[in-house]
Amino acid sequence: MRFNAKARLDASRTQDVGGGGGGTGGGFPIPIGKAGGGIGGLIVAVIIYLVVTNLGGGSAGGVLTGSAFSGNSVGLYGQDFDYSTCTSGEDANNSDECALVAVENSLTDYWKNQAQVADVFQPERAIHVFHGSVSTGGCGTATTDVGPFYCSGDQTIYLDTAFYDTIFKQLGGEATPFVRAYVIAHEYGHHIQDLLGTMSKVRTQQGKKSDSVRLELQADCYAGMWAHGAETTPDQDGNVLISDITSDDIQQGITAAKEVGDDYIQQRTGGSVNPDQWTHGSSAERQHWFTTGMQANDDISACDTFSAASLD
Ligand SMILES: [Zn+2]
Repeated sequence: MRFNAKARLDASRTQDVGGGGGGTGGGFPIPIGKAGGGIGGLIVAVIIYLVVTNLGGGSAGGVLTGSAFSGNSVGLYGQDFDYSTCTSGEDANNSDECALVAVENSLTDYWKNQAQVADVFQPERAIHVFHGSVSTGGCGTATTDVGPFYCSGDQTIYLDTAFYDTIFKQLGGEATPFVRAYVIAHEYGHHIQDLLGTMSKVRTQQGKKSDSVRLELQADCYAGMWAHGAETTPDQDGNVLISDITSDDIQQGITAAKEVGDDYIQQRTGGSVNPDQWTHGSSAERQHWFTTGMQANDDISACDTFSAASLD
């Protein structure tokens, strides 16, 4: 994957918010359950519904959809990086931080152009890169353990960059540039679900055919749609920002989808495979829906995991 060196970037939505703060409102700890043993304190806490009473008045309900990993904070991206310095595709080719901005720009350009989303489309409010812990605007306080997540309360994607040094290393994978893009594309998929009202349909939080699993697999499918369309998506100037998504990149994305499968994680962490506890779907299901998205040719209805009788 490469970025068009001459393309302009819009870094206005991507910020480093440091650690232990940065959000607006909400100071409630998120009740996450720990599954002990295995990968040091692996936490499986993926979709958490919270009703948070903000100091600002009123109550805001937030849906937090994240991934599920923990580890020591190492951080792929620099602490307190100034994302406003990312101005061109060349910057994105030379820096992981600016590549994050470029992927966000590409996702925004891609979804803005999808007919089935256009009527309700607006970009996510922000990507907040944090280190250690963060206060969100409606989803409480999150720590590194939660991994990347989307909070519907403030329509913001949260990314603790230690995630890449934990999940992929501990689960035996590698956080290549395209894998990192896949993670952002998955979280952006949750934003699209938020815009389309899909999140509010989720009732069952756990289990092989739960609404949670269907929501997560749909986000994988949306990530696949973007992966297929990124190289033909015009940017703000009519250029194409992303090129050279190789078959190796795609294979890395599919491998990453395997490594975040619930059955795979249960096995890797020394547990038995228990579909009743699934929240994101099995490795096979996650690979299937990422691939389905890539083959959907921009038809979002191909990602209707809620109507699908079989998920794999
Ligand atoms: Zn998710």
